[in-house]
Amino acid sequence: MTSTLPETPGVLAPPFGRFFLPGPTEVRHDVLHAMTQQMIAHRGKGIEDLMARVAPRLQSVFRTTRPVYTSTSSATGLMEAGVRNAVRERVLCLINGSFSERFYKAAVNSGIAADKLEIPFGHYHSPDMVAEALKKNSYDVVTVVHSETSTGVLNPIADIAKVVHAAGDVVLVVDTVSSMAAAAVECDAWDLDYVLTGSQKAMALPSGLAFCTANDRVMARAKESKRRGLYFDLLEFDEYYKKNQSPNTPAVSLLYALDVQLAHMEREGMAARWARHTAMAERTWAWTRDLGEKTGIRLFAPEGYRAPGVTCITVPQGKTGSGVASAMKAKGFVIATGYGKMKDEMVRIGHMGDHTMEELEVLLGTLGEVMTA
Ligand SMILES: *Cc1c(COP(=O)(O)O)cnc(C)c1O
Repeated sequence: MTSTLPETPGVLAPPFGRFFLPGPTEVRHDVLHAMTQQMIAHRGKGIEDLMARVAPRLQSVFRTTRPVYTSTSSATGLMEAGVRNAVRERVLCLINGSFSERFYKAAVNSGIAADKLEIPFGHYHSPDMVAEALKKNSYDVVTVVHSETSTGVLNPIADIAKVVHAAGDVVLVVDTVSSMAAAAVECDAWDLDYVLTGSQKAMALPSGLAFCTANDRVMARAKESKRRGLYFDLLEFDEYYKKNQSPNTPAVSLLYALDVQLAHMEREGMAARWARHTAMAERTWAWTRDLGEKTGIRLFAPEGYRAPGVTCITVPQGKTGSGVASAMKAKGFVIATGYGKMKDEMVRIGHMGDHTMEELEVLLGTLGEVMTA
């Protein structure tokens, strides 16, 4: 990708297509460039026009007719907002990796009673498992992570939403941080009550913004909630959304970037974007199977439940996740080690955002050399 940017360290070099972290992801140069524009007032026509342009395009990314709120925070802020605005008494947190564990911590640190439905990392939550847990105790919120970026597992959220709603007055709070804009997430059609994502994963924006949508059930609970605080109060978000503004001074530069990137995403179309991610994921899985015959490497996530934006691959015996990632670095490519305690067991490839199949092939070619060296 060519750039019109001045020679700024870290901006032009290395060339696009070498940076495969599962967040933050690589950002198009024209999107970066948009951030060099001068500030505008956050109460006034300039920002209102910008927010009005952004609003319907965010709704088409989220596949919803409801407002999509933009928060100047990282995604974790809106995870916390989800539990604090939606809970009455007790939360059930589905945990199958490090990010889903974060929901539990957000609840407990907010003084909310929470239980874990914890399964081994690398497994997915079946709807039956969730239905069973909802029979044992009374909950008003269930939290789930769609694409567990620490393991590469994709949870079946459409079916989980069905059993959650069948259990009564229970709402589902969904983290789609590494799946929104990479995998199908049908907020309205799947009746997802609260859905959040961050800017720096498959949306391919700089880090620092987060987005969420909440249905009437969640908004009604927010009205009664004594825990919603100020900064993450969904009622505040809604009040200012109606004026095409934000409750507080937004990250104006990031909004400039958002405006440009949403236009790119609109041009591509959501179905095409999902298909591109699926194709990159399937190629990575097939590549792993082929190389696995010789090296023993394998996919960490089970078949049928693999995320389209991030793949976790175990490393050959005698190698470590950090060793493979640094060997890749030496060849000019950035991939991630395993997450947290699984750091050296695997590597993680973030084939999400604006990457292409051609770029992925180059990456896999180099990774093959490193894995077999
Ligand atoms: C990256 C990530 C987060 C955390 O996002 P921050 O923007 O760092 O707060 C949460 N959940 C998932 C699934 C993620 O991949």
